[in-house]
Amino acid sequence: HCYDIVIGSGLIAQAVSKIKHYLYQKSSHQKIRLAIVTDKNVAAFHLNTLQTKLAENEIYTLPIIVEAGEQSKSFPILQNVIDKILSARLERGDSIIALGGGVIGDLAGFAASIIRRGMHFIQMPTTLLAQIDSSVGGKTGINSPYGKNLIGTFYQPQCVITDIDVLGTLPSREFRAGYAEMVKYGLINQPHFFEWLEKNWQKVFSKGPIQIEAIARSCQFKADIITHDEYETGQRTLLNLGHTFGHMLETATIYDSNRLIHGEAVAIGIILAHQFSEQLNLISPTVTQRIKAHFKTVGLPTQLQDIPGKLPNAETLMTFIAQDKKVSQNNLTFILTRALGQSFIAKNVSPNAVLTFLKQKLMKS
Ligand code: NAD
Ligand code: ZN
Repeated sequence: HCYDIVIGSGLIAQAVSKIKHYLYQKSSHQKIRLAIVTDKNVAAFHLNTLQTKLAENEIYTLPIIVEAGEQSKSFPILQNVIDKILSARLERGDSIIALGGGVIGDLAGFAASIIRRGMHFIQMPTTLLAQIDSSVGGKTGINSPYGKNLIGTFYQPQCVITDIDVLGTLPSREFRAGYAEMVKYGLINQPHFFEWLEKNWQKVFSKGPIQIEAIARSCQFKADIITHDEYETGQRTLLNLGHTFGHMLETATIYDSNRLIHGEAVAIGIILAHQFSEQLNLISPTVTQRIKAHFKTVGLPTQLQDIPGKLPNAETLMTFIAQDKKVSQNNLTFILTRALGQSFIAKNVSPNAVLTFLKQKLMKS
């Protein structure tokens, strides 16, 4: 399934023509009807602009506004979204727009994939993370008490409309967290992209052509990987660089009031994956130091000491890793690296080696 990702400035305002272009062509006397799923924060800044433009073009919209945050990826909220769409009698040929970050994209995409066995779906991602990561690749879903993202589908949108203007209202902490995932793309297998980011990061952080280029290159990179491995049986696993340690830290800090957000946990996770690679004599410490220096420059955390609050002991941290879905039997799968931007999938990592490594890291903190 092939679809366009349109990236630029002023797109929310121009969304009408894009939406008309990408949607199912209805006969001219029928009105286009759209449900816009969004969260309270995004609605406050951007819903009105979008709705007004659509209304001017006689496009009927049904706004569905949920609470901001991960807790909206749940069955009760999903049911609420579905009920609102069904009670407004939106049909299969009508569409759902996800206007928001990854939470909204995952929730609305999942709803779109199961209502009437699949409604048209358009992504309008509003966080950097959603623009470069979650809106590309077609993973949708909600969380379960047994873990994050355990219930969901693979469902591709009709198109993705990425407006960089909306990043202007995104809290800078959220922007930096998304940036960690952008750096990750360079570190997976594009050292030149990492070097380009080292030079251009300030322009990536402000609105303009370099920011658009960085987003486009990231989407292209993710799209390339996914085209070859849509259902994550091989190379797509590389996208998990920094995520095994990252998820471990997210789980460990989940109840802290000042908990890590995903991209911050991934930044520390990336450094830990490199330090672990050092310990296995795969890379020299200079590689890790260089990445660490870049993360520090942009204001991302890089080490366990940067985490506010006390972490559990190494044994407990290991149980969080074992809950992760990348574990099979007694061996752990990790993304490790052979050089800057040369990551690979290591399938037989011994849990004991990881435990020892974590003990050392905790001792230093
Ligand atoms: P998010 O959707 O919770 O957004 C972060 C915060 O920013 C929220 O408070 C939101 O209200 C606010 N916000 C969003 N856009 C804004 C804007 N333009 N201006 C002001 N505030 C704005 O979080 P996220 O980091 O975008 O996404 C995280 C989610 O994405 C997780 O649930 C994760 O599992 C999922 N994810 C999915 C995929 C995938 O492939 N489907 C990939 C990565 C992550
Ligand atoms: Zn991630």
